Amino acid sequence: MVVANRKMNGDIPSNQLFLEKLVAETQLHQQADYVVCMPHPYLYQAQSILEHTHIHWGGQNMSRYQSGAHTGSVSPPMLKEFGCKYVIIGHSERRMHGHDTDLSTGERFEVAVKSGLIPIFCMGETLEEYEDGATDIVTIRQLNAVIHEIGVQGLAGGILAYEPVWAIGTGKAATPEHAQNVLGFLRGHIEILDAELAQNIRILYGGSVNSLNAKQLFDMPDIDGALVGTASLNPEEFIAICLAASNAS
Ligand code: PEP
Repeated sequence: MVVANRKMNGDIPSNQLFLEKLVAETQLHQQADYVVCMPHPYLYQAQSILEHTHIHWGGQNMSRYQSGAHTGSVSPPMLKEFGCKYVIIGHSERRMHGHDTDLSTGERFEVAVKSGLIPIFCMGETLEEYEDGATDIVTIRQLNAVIHEIGVQGLAGGILAYEPVWAIGTGKAATPEHAQNVLGFLRGHIEILDAELAQNIRILYGGSVNSLNAKQLFDMPDIDGALVGTASLNPEEFIAICLAASNAS
């Protein structure tokens, strides 16, 4: 699976070029799933172009509330009304700048699932935590916040993404071995609680994935795909990552 996180980028003409090219050039390579998470104002455009194609789309965040006095927020039914199948929850940029906490991300994972959306739940340590050897402690804490809220079986309704903060947007991807170790560790943690779920749940890696490192990452046994930021802004780069995923499947 390859997920584009377009963040706060794009405009109507460049989105159109990107989405139409993505549909056309992945048409014959559907062994992987492709998702494009757009800024909310462009969800209608994504729906118009991607409806009836093999590409899915989603939001980059959502409120835990269904409606009401929450200025600037977007509710689960709104995402659904614009055809979203997925929503990113707990991206580190929102944890750092948007006041997302372990508790609020766990709650919104549950709300997303109950609303019929598939949350793509992001976990990852900062550079300082990485240097302190705290990767496992931090990611498990973040994951346990979801398990606490929805129960281990509830995880089945979502997708997990390990995104070390030090690799996001820096051009310094984690090595495939490091990513594999962390994903293997997370899968092992889930396995203790539910062996079947551990086998089936999708766990993605995110952080400076590009057309050059994608194949090596996808060759790792526990890496089920990628969450892609910067490289999703370049259609050729993103499509190359999609094809690498399709070929790896
Ligand atoms: C992200 O922000 O989710 C991400 C993975 O970004 P980048 O690919 O630019 O590191």
